[in-house]
Amino acid sequence: MQCLRRWVQTIWIFLSNGFWLFPFTRSLYQGPLKIICAPGLNCYSCPASTSYCLLGSLQQLFATIRFNLSMGSSFFGAYVLGSMGILAASLGRFICGWACPFGLLQEILYALPTKKFSIYPSLRYGKYLFLILFIFFLPLFIVHDNGLGYPWFCKYICPAGTLEAGLPMLALTPYLRAAAGLLFLSKLLILLAYLGWSTCSSRPFCRTTCPLGAFYGLFNRVSLVRLQLDPQRCTNCKACHSVCPVEIHFNETPNSPECINCLKCMTEACTFNAISVDLAGFKLYPHSTQSVNHHP
Ligand code: SF4
Ligand code: SF4
Repeated sequence: MQCLRRWVQTIWIFLSNGFWLFPFTRSLYQGPLKIICAPGLNCYSCPASTSYCLLGSLQQLFATIRFNLSMGSSFFGAYVLGSMGILAASLGRFICGWACPFGLLQEILYALPTKKFSIYPSLRYGKYLFLILFIFFLPLFIVHDNGLGYPWFCKYICPAGTLEAGLPMLALTPYLRAAAGLLFLSKLLILLAYLGWSTCSSRPFCRTTCPLGAFYGLFNRVSLVRLQLDPQRCTNCKACHSVCPVEIHFNETPNSPECINCLKCMTEACTFNAISVDLAGFKLYPHSTQSVNHHP
């Protein structure tokens, strides 16, 4: 199952970034595919990107609401909000575990043979702070005289943007290299900090910072496809605790907003078939219906 997950993660990288002519054109892809959103964190300004970024578009939406209102426009981003809502309500954080390029990169770095450290549990609340402050509040309320704000997360934080867009564009365009200043340097340091942290802690950006993961996680308990715990089968053996990449105890907090639905607990730990993947209440996997009763 984890091999399948790797394949799906890899395929999503190429589906979200299919414009490989960029070294020759030295420009961003602006074709018709760019109306389709990447479900995971994938920068719009990556020169290979053939999709748009939900998080960037959401910031853009809030940064322009006041300007649009002042111009009498009724554009309120139904397409962006609808796409995010449909993805979250359908899949929750399955997207983080199966379709996020920056999530895959962190997993690869964590596989390096270094000393490993847990992440202090309270740091998980950081991503909600980034979601509220950098995605909604600052773009909406810190605006120019004309009412236009900034995409604060993209501009000051996003390490995926620095990796996928900033570095390749600097490599391709000499005049950008000359213009790169302190802002780019600070973003490069942020990127290096997360990459370094990923070698010794599992998925630190997803667990402490990612506003998209924070949003998807709110739907983990109600999404159409979700994990299910069968309390009749669970023996509380705690085997699922040790394999979890985000250090949660599935049998104690099933469908936690932290769960990235990687399915390791189900396929690598639980030998009692206590965990299943359900689609709208119907068991998708595993298919076994054999009843088990561990209690005399
Ligand atoms: S609880 Fe299970 S599915 Fe969720 S992240 Fe942990 S191991 Fe993966
Ligand atoms: S591995 Fe399965 S049986 Fe054991 S505690 Fe987790 S869910 Fe329950």
